[in-house]
Amino acid sequence: MTRYAAPGTDGSIVSFQARYDHYIGGEYVAPAKGQYFENPSPVTGQVFCEVARGTAEDVDRAIDAAEGAAPAWGRTSPAERANVLNRVADRMEENLEALAVAETWDNGKAVRETLAADLPLAIDHFRYFAGCVRAQEGGISEIDEGLVAYHYHEPLGVVGQIIPWNFPILMAVWKLAPALAAGNAVVLKPAEQTPASIHVLLSIIGDLLPAGVLNVVNGFGVEAGKPLASSPRIRKIAFTGETTTGRLIMQYASENIIPVTLELGGKSPNVFFDDVAAADDSFYDKALEGFTMFALNQGEVCTCPSRALIQSGIYEKFLGDVTERTRRIVQGHPLDTATTMGAQASNDQLEKILSYIDIGRQEGAKVLTGGERARLDGDLAEGYYVQPTIFEGDNKMRIFQEEIFGPVVSVTRFDDYADAIKIANDTLYGLGAGVWSRDGGVAYRAGREIQAGRVWVNNYHAYPAHAAFGGYKQSGIGRENHRMMLDHYQQTKNLLVSY
Ligand code: NAD
Repeated sequence: MTRYAAPGTDGSIVSFQARYDHYIGGEYVAPAKGQYFENPSPVTGQVFCEVARGTAEDVDRAIDAAEGAAPAWGRTSPAERANVLNRVADRMEENLEALAVAETWDNGKAVRETLAADLPLAIDHFRYFAGCVRAQEGGISEIDEGLVAYHYHEPLGVVGQIIPWNFPILMAVWKLAPALAAGNAVVLKPAEQTPASIHVLLSIIGDLLPAGVLNVVNGFGVEAGKPLASSPRIRKIAFTGETTTGRLIMQYASENIIPVTLELGGKSPNVFFDDVAAADDSFYDKALEGFTMFALNQGEVCTCPSRALIQSGIYEKFLGDVTERTRRIVQGHPLDTATTMGAQASNDQLEKILSYIDIGRQEGAKVLTGGERARLDGDLAEGYYVQPTIFEGDNKMRIFQEEIFGPVVSVTRFDDYADAIKIANDTLYGLGAGVWSRDGGVAYRAGREIQAGRVWVNNYHAYPAHAAFGGYKQSGIGRENHRMMLDHYQQTKNLLVSY
């Protein structure tokens, strides 16, 4: 096991700057209003850098730079853009450990996750879209004698992207890779809670892209995000965040009639049928592990399996086994590769989770394990840690219906298949779901009948770039990942030619 040195201490492989400006036109640019905000690490609760506090003027400057760069970038061939994206991926891979440590320090998540999942997935995303854009073809149809239809893909131009704090680098790359591959210039606004790791990424890859193709404006939602999303100069807004903010983004976009991609909240059901417990074998073990995914990334995952539905026949045994397994989750220093669960991303998020734990108790739900703030020793004493928590209750309770976005799972029982589907679909959300059964027919049917954009069948939380991801119901509009994303960042031009 390895313990990486904390940034700012001897032996660290990452050195953050004390201050980050906006990244506009390939350069660091001070904020027009001269204001900065402090950025603490969730690991220790201590401020480690300050970051430009963006406003409408900064957004305008970034859009100027993007407009300047978009035409030339849009005219490059797919092969040229693919080469750039592949070089970006190579550079990230060469600096994987430094990026992983930076991400952990800024967000609080365990470095074993950033090393094994966040960064490898982000790197693969660039490579995947580099391949997709090279393979993309237009179309030619003979409509009639002497009449031919040509279809071309064209970039949209300048696009805006706004991301949350739970996977800062990966969420940025999910949006950047298809947008850049398609030939667009981007203005990206990171979340104010995790603004720093993206700048470490820029210091590693910034020189590979022509100036102005990728611009980053830091800052808060209303001050910097709103001017970006409501600008009449962008051709699309892609947003990941809360459903309530998603509603506002749609309103802004409607003024300018631009397309939106919205990746919003979730309250994902994880459904365990009786037959998972037929014997103590590897399938059962996988199902238990699938349950504990509620604590992956400290539960700060939009598809967190935050509702577990367990069939009556195995209810007591399964719940006993998962409670015992949850107690084995290792909370410790996020920069230690033995740690399996790190810190929540911000103090506000910590408070929100603790308030939901109170709400659950007040509603009469039973705490089976956890239920408290976790106080770690030494430098970590002021960090934002919560115990992984299992509640037993009823699907009508607020802890079953509202997104907590923390390591909290609410468990209930069901009697038969119809009951399972009814409870699973009794939510405003429809982002992710899990189904566990040895009966392929049951698992497949449940996967089709649960109203969610992504259903993991006998696994949970794989995110391959090739698999379309997005929400039903109030979990969003549009998809991310998958080559279809290129279409979402392009116009289709039709030439109807007589000859
Ligand atoms: P949030 O909506 O508060 O903030 C997200 C981003 O939007 C931030 O960059 C923020 O500054 C910006 N923002 C806030 N108000 C804005 C406004 N009025 N105009 C423009 N921008 C504004 O969400 P959050 O708390 O940062 O993130 C957590 C949420 O994100 C959860 O609901 C989670 O489910 C969701 N999420 C969804 C996915 C997905 O793919 N569906 C992935 C990750 C997170």
